[in-house]
Amino acid sequence: MVTIKVEPLVALVAAIFAGVGSSKEEGERVARSLVGANLAGHDSHGVIRVPRYVAWVESGEIVPNQTVQRLIDTPSFAVLDGRYGFGQSVAPQAVAIGIEKTKASGLAAIALRDAGHIGRVGEWAEMAAAEKLVSVHFVNASGSVLVAPFGGVERRISTAPFCVGIPREGDEPIVLDFATSLVAEGKVMVASQGGKKLPDGALIGPDGKLSIDPALLYGPHTPEGPRDHSKGEGAIRAFGEHKGSGLALICELLGGALTGTGATRPDRDKFANGMFAIYIDPARFDPTHLFDGEVDRYLGYIKGTKPAAGVPEVLVPGEPERRMKAERMKNGVPLTDDTWASISAAARHVGLSEAQLSQAAPR
Ligand code: NAD
Repeated sequence: MVTIKVEPLVALVAAIFAGVGSSKEEGERVARSLVGANLAGHDSHGVIRVPRYVAWVESGEIVPNQTVQRLIDTPSFAVLDGRYGFGQSVAPQAVAIGIEKTKASGLAAIALRDAGHIGRVGEWAEMAAAEKLVSVHFVNASGSVLVAPFGGVERRISTAPFCVGIPREGDEPIVLDFATSLVAEGKVMVASQGGKKLPDGALIGPDGKLSIDPALLYGPHTPEGPRDHSKGEGAIRAFGEHKGSGLALICELLGGALTGTGATRPDRDKFANGMFAIYIDPARFDPTHLFDGEVDRYLGYIKGTKPAAGVPEVLVPGEPERRMKAERMKNGVPLTDDTWASISAAARHVGLSEAQLSQAAPR
């Protein structure tokens, strides 16, 4: 395990993306976003993704330095083409358009199609919450057929994340942000690189047997080699039985079909995230500000629940991420040896020097 301080890690990852053609600003934006996911404790969506993003740029699956194209633009909604730009570039552009429209009219919906991987969706809810807006995000990951629907053993759905952000007056927002699969694919990747083990029954084999073995998703793989989920025979399971599987279906239909990205299909050649997001200005719906007080009162009520045996405290969505961030900002981001080796290999591959690597992780 290596632990790397935040700023040197951002600088290294930014340099890697500059090495594959991103502008300095984009390299830094992608790096901050990935490191931000590590800070939030979602290592599955952090810098572990660097080698795959580099490979995607090289294969043309991600196009550096893109700006969204407005296909439809009305006062209350917009349909945007992400043009396979880095998700960390086109998603914040889409959210900014949503914020602008919502500030003007109180409510807006933005469909973003064909974005590169947008990472931790909660980051985009946090961006809206920082402007005091509620947001609801339905996302699919088209081209990434990984999840078996409830009752099935074959892959049909992506890990299709769902996210809601609720701003709080003078406090940190509520951010509910999760994959509708029992685990995000990245968590299988983390487990395959010697990180945290998968929860029981996260995967299902073609024979219907439940498993936690990442080889079921990636097939046989070496520690440093790429993880190719087309090589495995099994599937991730949807969370929450028929209810989670149903929510995943809705994310495919709204995040995928309605945005124009397309719901997940096996014959799609490029990965893309589609995001359908609804933005609401609570101040316009509730000029008396009852909402703010009610949010506070209710959260206090929830947090005051007597904890179950072995649980130190009842938390609300967004709290675990903030606590982890405070800890990792101070102590640095821990990376498994395999993850660090694969990032180092990507850095060398794009021409960074050994000195640049050892600046990030002094021996
Ligand atoms: P997860 O299972 O860790 O759940 C996270 C959510 O649960 C957060 O809202 C968190 O605050 C809340 N939470 C966690 N512990 C809690 C507790 N004890 N009490 C109350 N709330 C608690 O998340 P996941 O499903 O592994 O998803 C990880 C990340 O992967 C998310 O950021 C998601 O957006 C991202 N993702 C992205 C894609 C994509 O294609 N871009 C696909 C799938 C997932």
